[in-house]
Amino acid sequence: ADAVHPHIGKLAVVLITQHLCLLVQVLHDLAVQLVYAEKVIFVPGFGLAQAQAQRELADLGELLKGHGVEVSYAIHPVAGRMPGHMNVLLAEANVPYEELVDLDEINPQFPQANVALVVGANDVTNPAARRPGTPVSGMPIPDVDKSQNVVVMKRGRGMGYAGIKNERYFEDNTQMPFGDAKKSLQSVIAAVKELLA
Ligand code: NDP
Repeated sequence: ADAVHPHIGKLAVVLITQHLCLLVQVLHDLAVQLVYAEKVIFVPGFGLAQAQAQRELADLGELLKGHGVEVSYAIHPVAGRMPGHMNVLLAEANVPYEELVDLDEINPQFPQANVALVVGANDVTNPAARRPGTPVSGMPIPDVDKSQNVVVMKRGRGMGYAGIKNERYFEDNTQMPFGDAKKSLQSVIAAVKELLA
């Protein structure tokens, strides 16, 4: 057993290091996509509030706008845990009111978006809403799948309030840098600043 244990320890270190390198790479790739984008749509959800990452998201938006990227926030009517939750959260971070766009208005814009960045939203983006017989059936959802790339910032593939899986997380054009939204956004902001320096 003594001969095996040191190897298990080393293997664990290798696997964790590989995982962290991959995460850093995905976040860096996201920064590159954002910097070269013409249009980016942020899709916030309850996890943004849980991570208390609203200021980081607003800072990322400001950085990109300063570089000429068009930035909007898709506001789902039941995102979060109370009516108007995302509006309150983002207003707190001084996001200009005109950048908060309702679903009816933002949905036709996804095909022009280079990146849809989902931050801590789960149920309100679940494609299961488009078919009958699920707890979210009939709920309008943002058409993130119509954008060129979808990136979802969450800690894992965990469920949201409705307690169902989100098939979006298993689609080919969805990237998921797992981690706390605040930390992920901080890494992306640092990478964007480096790219723009
Ligand atoms: P969800 O509750 O569906 O999902 C939130 C996600 O946030 C979780 O799946 C979790 O995933 C992620 N998360 C949690 N902490 C963090 C973190 N620190 N960093 C990154 N991600 C995090 O939220 P939505 O806004 O998509 O949907 C709202 C739900 O609440 C709907 O089902 C709605 O019907 C319901 N609801 C809304 C009300 C309202 O008035 N707005 C009132 C009552 C219910 P993970 O664990 O993988 O990180």
